[in-house]
Amino acid sequence: MSAMRLRRFGTFAGGIVLPDSKDATLGAPIVPIGPLTRLRVPLAPTEAEPARPLVEPGQAVSHGQRIAQASDARQVDVFAPLAGRVAGIGECLLPGPEGTWRSSPAIELVELDSVGRIEELSCHYTWQSADEYSIRLRIAEGGVCTCRPPVSALGGWIERALAASVETLIADITENTPFVTADHRLLAERGSEVIRGLAILARAVGARNVMLAVDHRRTGAYRAAVGPARLYGIEPIALPHKYPIGAEAMIVKVLTRREIPPGGTAMDVGVAVTDAATCWLTYRWVACGEPPTARVVTLSGPALHRPGNYLVPFGAEIEELLALAGLDAQAWGVCGPAMSGQLATAGAVTGPGGNAVLGLHPQQAGPPTQCIRCGWCSENCPARLNVAALNDDFELNRPTQAARRGVLACVGCGICSYLCPARLPLSRRVALLKRAIRQGQSRSRDARDAAQKH
Ligand code: SF4
Ligand code: SF4
Repeated sequence: MSAMRLRRFGTFAGGIVLPDSKDATLGAPIVPIGPLTRLRVPLAPTEAEPARPLVEPGQAVSHGQRIAQASDARQVDVFAPLAGRVAGIGECLLPGPEGTWRSSPAIELVELDSVGRIEELSCHYTWQSADEYSIRLRIAEGGVCTCRPPVSALGGWIERALAASVETLIADITENTPFVTADHRLLAERGSEVIRGLAILARAVGARNVMLAVDHRRTGAYRAAVGPARLYGIEPIALPHKYPIGAEAMIVKVLTRREIPPGGTAMDVGVAVTDAATCWLTYRWVACGEPPTARVVTLSGPALHRPGNYLVPFGAEIEELLALAGLDAQAWGVCGPAMSGQLATAGAVTGPGGNAVLGLHPQQAGPPTQCIRCGWCSENCPARLNVAALNDDFELNRPTQAARRGVLACVGCGICSYLCPARLPLSRRVALLKRAIRQGQSRSRDARDAAQKH
C-alpha cells in the first residue's frame, strides 16, 4: 500500500494466531439494523452516577434530543437514539469489569422510528483553527464516551491523559479477534472521519506522536481512507496478525517498548489508546454537531443466519438483535469478542463499548477435569503469568499469593481457557482473583481514609 508506511515492529512473547472467521462480514457494508420495538437507553453508560432524566413518561422525543443530563464530569449527557415515546424509567444491563454485568437505570423508548443510514454531514466547526481548550470544552459537552472498554466519559479520559502528560496516542484498529469487523468496516467506509476524529483527539490530549495501527493483511481496504492521515501527522502502521496484539499492554509494548505496570494503564507510561468508534463519534460531534447515539456492531458467528455490520442505536436489547439476525434455537448469544465476551442475558443492551454480538453453538466438550500440568496456558499467556499456579491460588482461595505472582497484569484475553485441555475456566478464575484483590485494595484504602479522619 503506497500511502501506508509498513514499519516493522517487534512482537510480544506469548499469544496465538487465532482463526479469523470473518468471511461472513469482512466485506459487508455497514447497514442500519432492522426495526426495533423498544430501546432501554442507559442513564449510566459509564460507571459513574447516572445522568438525570430530562423527559417524562408519555413524552414524545426526537432523534438526537438531549434526554438526560450528567451531574458529574465522569458521566455524560444522554441523547435519544431514535425518535419515539418515553414509556418510563426502567433498568438495563451493560458489561461491567472482569466479565460481570452491571445494572444501569434506563429511559425506555417505544413507538420508535426506524434506524436510518449514516448521514453525510457537513463540518461546521473549524476544529483545525480552534485552540485546544475550546476543543476540550466542546468534547465535554457532547456526551461522547470512550468506546474501548472500560467505557468512560471522553472528557474525563482527556483530563486523565493531560494529567499523565501523554505523549503518544495510538488508535488500535487491529481487531484481531474472530468474527468482529466493526472497526474494520468503519475505517474502510468512514475512514476520513475516523482519521479526523483521531486528529481532534490528538489535539485535545496534546499528543506529539500519533499512530494508526491496523492489521497488515487489511491495508488495501484502507488506502483511500488513510492517505490523508499524514496531513494530520498521523503515522499509519501495519502490525502482524497475532492475538491479543490489540490488548493495551501488548500494543503499547510493541509500538513504544514501554511496559505497563501490573494493574496499571497505558497512561501510566505516557500513552493513550483509542479505537475507530471513539474517533468516529468524536469527529461527528465536534466537527458536525451530531450527538453520539449509535455505533457499528458486528452481528456474526456460526449460529446467526443474517450476519452483518449494523448501525445499532444505544439501548437496543441484545435479545432483539439476536432475533433480528436469526439466532439458531438452543444457540448462545455472546456480547463482545468470542474469546472474552459474556453470555447474553435478559435486560442486556448495547452501549458505547459493545462492538460485537455473536451467535455461537454450545460446546459439547464436557465438564472441567484436573490440571495435567501441560504448561500450555503459561507458555502462551501474553502477560507471562504462571496460569496453572494462579489456578491453584484460585482453588485454595489465595488472592494474596496471586497478587504476588502479578495476576493484575492479566489482560483478560482468554487464551488460557481456550487452550486448556482440562477445560478449566482459567480466564474467569483469574478475573475473579483480580476482582478479589481490587476489592481488598479498595477496602484498605477506605479503612486508611477513615483512620486519617479520626
Ligand atoms: S492469564 Fe490472563 S493474560 Fe494470561 S492467558 Fe489467561 S486471560 Fe490471557
Ligand atoms: S493448560 Fe490447563 S491443564 Fe495445562 S497446565 Fe494450564 S491449567 Fe493445567
